[in-house]
Amino acid sequence: MFDIEKIETIYSRMGNRITQTRQALQRPLTISEKILYSHLGHNINPMDFERGRSYVDFCIDRVAMQDATAQMALLQFMQAGRDRVAVPTTVHCDHLIQARLGADNDLQKAKESNQEVYDFLESVSNKYSIGFWKPGAGIIHQVILENYAFPGGMMIGTDSHTVNAGGLGVIAIGVGGADAVDVMAGMPWELLFPKLIGVKLIGEMNGWTSAKDVILKVAGILTAKGGTGAILEYFGPGAESLSCTGKGTICNMGAEIGATTSIFAYDESMVEYLHATGRAEVADLADKIADNLRSDAEVYDNPEKFYDQIIEINLSELEPYLNGPFTPDLATPISQMAAEAKENGWPTKVEVGLIGSCTNSSYEDIARSASIAEQAVNKKLHVKSEFTITPGSEQVRFTVDRDGYLDAFSKMGGVVLANACGPCIGQWARHSTDPGKKNTIVTSFNRNFAKRNDGNPNTHAFVGSPEIVTALAIAGELTFNPITDSLKNSEGEQVTLDPPSGDRLPKNGFEVKDMGYQAPSSDGSSVEVTINPDSKRLQFLTPFGPWDGENITGIKLLIKAKGKCTTDHISMAGPWLKFRGHLDKISDNMLTGAVNYFNDKTNLVKNQISGEHGSVPEVQRAYKAQGIQTIVVGDENYGEGSSREHAAMEPRHLGVRVVLVKSFARIHETNLKKQGMLALIFSDKSDYDKIQEDDAFDFLDLVDFSPKKPLTLRIIHSDASSNDIQCEHSYNEIQIDWFKHGSALNKIALENN
Ligand code: SF4
Repeated sequence: MFDIEKIETIYSRMGNRITQTRQALQRPLTISEKILYSHLGHNINPMDFERGRSYVDFCIDRVAMQDATAQMALLQFMQAGRDRVAVPTTVHCDHLIQARLGADNDLQKAKESNQEVYDFLESVSNKYSIGFWKPGAGIIHQVILENYAFPGGMMIGTDSHTVNAGGLGVIAIGVGGADAVDVMAGMPWELLFPKLIGVKLIGEMNGWTSAKDVILKVAGILTAKGGTGAILEYFGPGAESLSCTGKGTICNMGAEIGATTSIFAYDESMVEYLHATGRAEVADLADKIADNLRSDAEVYDNPEKFYDQIIEINLSELEPYLNGPFTPDLATPISQMAAEAKENGWPTKVEVGLIGSCTNSSYEDIARSASIAEQAVNKKLHVKSEFTITPGSEQVRFTVDRDGYLDAFSKMGGVVLANACGPCIGQWARHSTDPGKKNTIVTSFNRNFAKRNDGNPNTHAFVGSPEIVTALAIAGELTFNPITDSLKNSEGEQVTLDPPSGDRLPKNGFEVKDMGYQAPSSDGSSVEVTINPDSKRLQFLTPFGPWDGENITGIKLLIKAKGKCTTDHISMAGPWLKFRGHLDKISDNMLTGAVNYFNDKTNLVKNQISGEHGSVPEVQRAYKAQGIQTIVVGDENYGEGSSREHAAMEPRHLGVRVVLVKSFARIHETNLKKQGMLALIFSDKSDYDKIQEDDAFDFLDLVDFSPKKPLTLRIIHSDASSNDIQCEHSYNEIQIDWFKHGSALNKIALENN
């Protein structure tokens, strides 16, 4: 049992905090508000924070990291000068396992090819009191739901689907590695106070409909951006009729509509799930404060008074959906798929059906899908598509194997993959005879952007419930509607598939031999973390140097970026992901996606010393070799997109000192500050037009750097003429201190030593 004492402490103070908040706000509270306000940062009094505008500090209960994002986060944390993490933290080895032949084989191969990364993560975890979930233990979000999530908790994770834990009543938010480092180092965590969208579920599901269809429908209503900056709160009799893991599925895919997170209030399904996963003690504690773990009655009575937007869905009328291709919000009810596919020219032959992933791999999902698989065998149907099953955790895998469900899948020709992300994140060595051909796959995963699953832009991926995916894999046709259509079996008879059935939780309890968990050493001081100096995947970080207290002068322009410049343009993903733990290597992708204002080309900028043009990293490295600091100039909303700390670390590592833009995406601006960079904004946006390709820059008053005081930058053109411009900034005293010390981590390390 994890965290029981911590949960007791959190619950013991929750009541008072909620009462104080109700008094301060003079109104009833929703469940999200109760959790948020009871996790306010130290010394912050409850007040009516403006939703969607106020930034507020919170104290976080737990951090989770997956193996791909954990590498850089832990390398940074090691610089914080702490001997253990400040809050309970876990690392999960799930993203680096490639699906090829099947669980055992693939797991073995992954252990060999990722050994140095796994060894590193294991030893850092051991040293700093971090729980380590070995490769094969399961997918981060399922493991969290089964072991750590608790109603009323607040956690962050370095993965967008951390939101899955909302199914067990947690405010769980996906973040970048820099945020995880802050929390592990003992700093508060800042969040834009979210808007609230209420989703009222009435009626009850039946037949082929499942929890997945709720979120597929919501995605269709709100679209891929409709949840941005908001928490979705599900309530109503329909919400209470869903299983806890079904709730998790709905919350999980809230990431696909950009939601900050999604949540269900504490109810009987959570009690059942906590008992089934060996946490009756947590349920007993939660029962005692159940009113604090649900919205106030007035909210349920008059939701329109408390939410910014309300959606109502009648589960009794909900049809199964298939969403896609290429976007998760293109929602098509299964009854209309034949017409839509024809009209849009989507390939209708289903080549592969894939079930599982962190989204849909519960006992209930597997049991219901297996009931369809069994029918394929019993009704003598020839299964037309390839079929794979990805269990979400070793605990689920072991139990569904014990209960005969994996056998049912293998009889229909299914292949069980490792308990890992695999095809969901593109870790799939798909056997394809003609990758150039348009083709269709159906999955129970969450994301279906082009190339997401197999790297092939011609693959049309449709997302549905695992039950529907199983039925479509049997039929081999995207247009098959199991509610109305029949299939011809091997004896020439027309047969229909009965609706799925299966238990929510195992009648004989969960069982597992080895969960794959490794507890950290109680005293990690003697644990040594080593990295091979020749490693191409990992590199210890060296602290960035402090500011010398002088005006920085002689700065050269590296690039004036034109138009959109997201964190993906600054630090591309794809093949570079394997270098996430090696700052110098991954820096070779720095700004390679940004468009150079002076030639409209990407990755081609002028080296002012040689007069030649070269790639951005090449030119920057040439400046660095000569000790010349540089500036990057950008357009509006610079650094939007995923919160990737590499996009701030790479420029700092290569010697860029200033990023001057028309406007910043807030998270990237903060990330730059944390790395000790100067993140500045044109006071007059038209000054952007004054920047020429051969310009140099001097600060005139950096020595007086202080909050709310603009800085003056002199632009010196190649003809010796110059312009002095004003640059705004949003640094507070603490952030200026980060700049002075070279980075936030340098400052924290100083405080910890
Ligand atoms: S299974 Fe897919 S969505 Fe879930 S954590 Fe892994 S990659 Fe992300």
